[in-house]
Amino acid sequence: MRATPRLNFNCRHRIACEFKWFALEQAQAELLNWRGVGASVMEISHRDAEFIELADQAEADLRELMAIPAGYQVLFLQGGATQHFAQIPMNLATPDQSADYLITGAWGQKAAKEAATLMKVNVVADSAPYTSAPAYSDLVFSDDAAFVHLTPNETIHGVELFDLPKCKAPIVADMSSNILSRPINVADYGLIYAGAQKNIGPSGIVVMIVREDLLKRQPRKLPAILNYAKHADNKSMLNTPPTFGLYMAGLVFKWLKAQGGLTAMQAKNEAKANALYDYIDASGFYKNPVAKANRSCMNVPFVLPTAEMDKAFLTGAKQANMLGLKGHRDVGGMRASIYNATEKSAVDALISYMKDFAARA
Ligand code: PMP
Repeated sequence: MRATPRLNFNCRHRIACEFKWFALEQAQAELLNWRGVGASVMEISHRDAEFIELADQAEADLRELMAIPAGYQVLFLQGGATQHFAQIPMNLATPDQSADYLITGAWGQKAAKEAATLMKVNVVADSAPYTSAPAYSDLVFSDDAAFVHLTPNETIHGVELFDLPKCKAPIVADMSSNILSRPINVADYGLIYAGAQKNIGPSGIVVMIVREDLLKRQPRKLPAILNYAKHADNKSMLNTPPTFGLYMAGLVFKWLKAQGGLTAMQAKNEAKANALYDYIDASGFYKNPVAKANRSCMNVPFVLPTAEMDKAFLTGAKQANMLGLKGHRDVGGMRASIYNATEKSAVDALISYMKDFAARA
């Protein structure tokens, strides 16, 4: 147990931020002797029957949590979401084909830039300065797009898409920062991918859910290691998977099931986000610039009346045991990342600190 519980609102170190987190405590308890095998889960081979059982169970739990229908493969990959900004175009389109990109923040912008090195990119909308999403009725999708890429939650700008545009091509969604935060209908997507480090587990693992017909496309000759179909054929064990990450992801999936699954997580996440946004709006001091319909349930950026106050706010927050509130340099101000692992009590403590700070300013 940590001596001093800390409330961490930073997006990066999710795994180390939940002070009572079941998954961390269990990992600590069995770090040196996993399942009584007399060794750490990090020490055993990924080909051992026990590890294969672990991987199968993690997949089964994820399938149950997200109600993943038949006809979709679940892959546990590496490279961070960023690698897949490039690898997705390699697997889904020829260099001559185009894909439609809906850009609602910095991550969508990066994804489009990487894709443009490999294929034609048609930006259907770019909603810079990223304080809202475009009206879907205004969007014109290409008839021959290989896929439509979007980012359901823009982590830096705090812009979330709560529904999907209607389009013919399969939707490819970077769900790195809102996967498992609420139920979704997987059948609405062709491919979902997410870096693990927010709602799943440690960085170094990427979860991908992909419709089987997309795996059959094989639009260009690729080395096996870059080919999603080859990873699927080998049950994500084409090479050594990030075994500790997969183990932690499995514990988090179990934790989510014990919480009541994604419907329960949605209720908790909405309660946290609503409390914070309601306070910010009522404060007359703090401001969140995002249109109400697109305010993220996971990342809440806010600014103080002047940037000069930022330093004092962060110093006081640290003294009050709150970490990771500094906003991204592109946006400035503050950002509270309130992922699945953040308890409502942490958000209440933040609001209470924000009230004190505003009263003293
Ligand atoms: N997409 C989104 C939505 C993200 O939030 C992030 C990381 N914060 C990334 C992509 C990049 O992820 P990685 O660092 O794992 O490549």
